[in-house]
Amino acid sequence: MEAVKLPSSWEKPKLAPQPEASIPRLELCTAVLAVELADLVHQELDMEVDTTFYTDSKVVLGYIHNEVRHFYVYVANRVQRIRRTSKPQQWHYVPTDLNPADCGTRSVPAIRLHDAPWLNGPAFLSRPSTPDDGNQTYHLIDPDQDTEIRQVVSTFTTHTSSSCLNSERFERFSSWIAVTRAVAHLIHIARTFNKRNTINKACNGWHCCRTLTVEVLNQAKNIVVKAAQRYDYATEINCLEESKKLPSDSAIKTLDPFIDEQGLHRVGGRTRRAGLSQEEMHPIIISGKHHVATLLVRHHHQSIHHQGRHLTEGAVRAAGFWIVGGKRCVSRVIHFCVRCKRLRGSVQVQKLSNLPEDRMDFSPPFTNVSMDVFGPWPVTSR
Ligand SMILES: [Zn+2]
Ligand SMILES: [Zn+2]
Repeated sequence: MEAVKLPSSWEKPKLAPQPEASIPRLELCTAVLAVELADLVHQELDMEVDTTFYTDSKVVLGYIHNEVRHFYVYVANRVQRIRRTSKPQQWHYVPTDLNPADCGTRSVPAIRLHDAPWLNGPAFLSRPSTPDDGNQTYHLIDPDQDTEIRQVVSTFTTHTSSSCLNSERFERFSSWIAVTRAVAHLIHIARTFNKRNTINKACNGWHCCRTLTVEVLNQAKNIVVKAAQRYDYATEINCLEESKKLPSDSAIKTLDPFIDEQGLHRVGGRTRRAGLSQEEMHPIIISGKHHVATLLVRHHHQSIHHQGRHLTEGAVRAAGFWIVGGKRCVSRVIHFCVRCKRLRGSVQVQKLSNLPEDRMDFSPPFTNVSMDVFGPWPVTSR
């Protein structure tokens, strides 16, 4: 039988390379060495031999059994080498106190060498089962802290079920200007992420521009109104989109509503040939119960300097909005308006004190005499 000639590097003691590698790296190198040695033995033996590998490093076992994470190059190359000619199921754990390899690096008195596993191997080798019962799968140990393991980078996408914003979020705003500006900022930021739409090069990513264009503000206004309409009149809008009749119990059936080219829900009617602007002929429909209606009424009530109910209604109407239940909405806004309460409040009346005693006593004439004297008084000063 021809003697197996081991490579010259294996005949020498293996020393840890410089600069010093980490313990898991050294353990992994020994695992690679074991696989290369097993390959050489298989190559020289003309028979099938089942090979079992043992290591006392659970970190290395975690690397070899890993199926979920990626490693950096050093560990990845060695794990790839190990798995090329061995399967993870062939790798098992041996406790440190049973590991015969440790006898070579830790001193064993000569008198105990005969009983040490160095010469005969550990006792479990002669049993059919392995110390870890054979079928154990090893997981990575503390993968988030291990510098050899690449960090998991997750990319998320958000899918919304509706093409509109959630109008319940508008309840966080107390003014129409604030809600439209907030949505306009979002539109502007969304555009800056698309480099083709970026007008100003200073606009980049999440930022807050001081100047917003009229076009963006108008677009924001339409988005807010559309979201409010979808919230209150989803059924009616679906019917109009599918060219169906509106439900008989719909609150806006009498308004003959239609959807314009921007997707806004407007009042219909017979005045299309009147030559008026679209805002006047076909105002936008908004439910008076929605928070956006309250914001709109409050905004126009302030713009006409807190005048009464009729003028506020007129201002809202002139701005191109038809608020369903508008009278009640306007009354509610004015009722809670602090400035109107202050200006329209009744004047406080002073409570007068009791009359003096000499005016209340019955007495003969000239009993109490007083003189009303008025100047000019000459004043001298020294
Ligand atoms: Zn900007
Ligand atoms: Zn007011």
